[in-house]
Amino acid sequence: MPVGTVASVKGVSQDILEELGVQILLGNTYHLYLRPGVAQVRQLGGLHRFMAWPRAILTDSGGFQVFSLNDLRKVTEEGVTFRSHLDGSTHFFTPESAMEAQIGLGADIIMAFDECTEHPASPQRARESMELTLRWAARSKKYFEQHKTEVPWATERTPGPAQTQALFGIVQGGMDAALRKESAERTIEIGFPGYAIGGLSVGEPRPVTREVVEATLQHLPADKPRYLMGVGTPEEIVEYASLGVDMMDCVLPTRAARHGLLFTSEGRISIKQVRYASDPGPLDPKCGCRVCRRYSRAYLRHLYAANEVLAQVLNTVHNLSFYLDTMRAVRHSIALGNKTQFLAGGQSRAKS
Ligand SMILES: [Zn+2]
Repeated sequence: MPVGTVASVKGVSQDILEELGVQILLGNTYHLYLRPGVAQVRQLGGLHRFMAWPRAILTDSGGFQVFSLNDLRKVTEEGVTFRSHLDGSTHFFTPESAMEAQIGLGADIIMAFDECTEHPASPQRARESMELTLRWAARSKKYFEQHKTEVPWATERTPGPAQTQALFGIVQGGMDAALRKESAERTIEIGFPGYAIGGLSVGEPRPVTREVVEATLQHLPADKPRYLMGVGTPEEIVEYASLGVDMMDCVLPTRAARHGLLFTSEGRISIKQVRYASDPGPLDPKCGCRVCRRYSRAYLRHLYAANEVLAQVLNTVHNLSFYLDTMRAVRHSIALGNKTQFLAGGQSRAKS
């Protein structure tokens, strides 16, 4: 899932995203709640209509941003008090208000409100945080069940019963395999149509991330979507898909693109380097995207050096294309029953 933080994948218009084959986008509830505001989006028909995106959308619960962008947050049993990074104003999120916001935004998949446990955390702290997330998951589901027909498009999409969203649960438990198992089992007891693995990519070493993912996945039902939040590099998304992860989101392809870091079948390229100034070749000779078909490395390097807006646009289009190609190859490989034989970029493992 490309990340469209404020109902926009930075630098790329919706028609190009469609052409690239994007099936689902991620929006951030925290950012949309602060600006333009949930009531505004609801009044305009929900996120799909507001951002002119007819395909699927997932919103996160706001929890991760509250925890990562706010040093002054205060967590109680009831919810989290936090300061807006825009104007310093004080806000309060609860499981109920996070559900209310996500129902108002109207994404197809929404997430239970959780506490993203910091790293490192003591065993006692990791358990208390996991228990809080479990209580918040139950409250999220209860509110959702009572209010799910209030989604902006509930009665307009198709005739028949009102359409609703899918609410996913989130597994926490820090870096402790036993806590992860318990969190998975008790989240399944509450019951959701899909499950996310949260609380990773928070500063832990990469081998630990993989261990925790493996330890968690084996306790989540294989016949429901399993969503690993906030990863990763092209090599990592191939690795996690081969372990059984169905969904991932990451700002890396879009954020790296804006800094001139490009993923290619020949490894990573920093387009700002002077050695590309007279290179007439395509960015990635094995990529068929609209950027690689049309422009040279020399031109892309020039745009970046000249600080042209077009540099960000073209770089982002290529990186998203590379990620989407990677996932298409993964799906193809799985369809052939050969899920472990595949490497990122369709060729060889990218050099780092
Ligand atoms: Zn390309």
